[in-house]
Parts: sequence; C-alpha cells; structure tokens
Amino acid sequence: MTQKPKSDKPVRLRPRRPCPVCGSPSQQKYHPFCSARCADIDLHRWLGGQYAIPAVDVPDFADAGESNDGRDET
Ligand SMILES: [Zn+2]
Repeated sequence: MTQKPKSDKPVRLRPRRPCPVCGSPSQQKYHPFCSARCADIDLHRWLGGQYAIPAVDVPDFADAGESNDGRDET
C-alpha cells in the first residue's frame, strides 16, 4: 500500500477570522484578536458591560439563638 501525499489541498490550521474588536486580521499570538490592545478592549467591555454576578444573600444568623427547650443540659 502506498499512500500518496495529498498535495491538492493546503492544510489550514485555523480559519482566519477578523478581530472582533476592530476587524483587522487576527494574530495567532493574540487569537482571536489582532493585538493585545484589542484583547484588552474586549476584556474591558466585558467588565464594564456584562459584569454581573448575582448577589448571594448571606443567611441571617439572628435565628441562631432559637428557643430549643428540648435540651437536656444540666
Ligand atoms: Zn483588533
């Protein structure tokens, strides 16, 4: 069995996508952005716009001293 090297198709590692921030061709180093600056801009967008963490209500421990008459402490 002899396998022929396929030379009809160039092997693409990743499809080129434009930078989501400015639309320039993205760099592999800053994928999917074109530069560290655009990555930073995108990060700030997230932090500024959609940074929403649901507030967790801490249970109130005021009821800790509940009247428990069933104690048999001497
Ligand atoms: Zn960019």
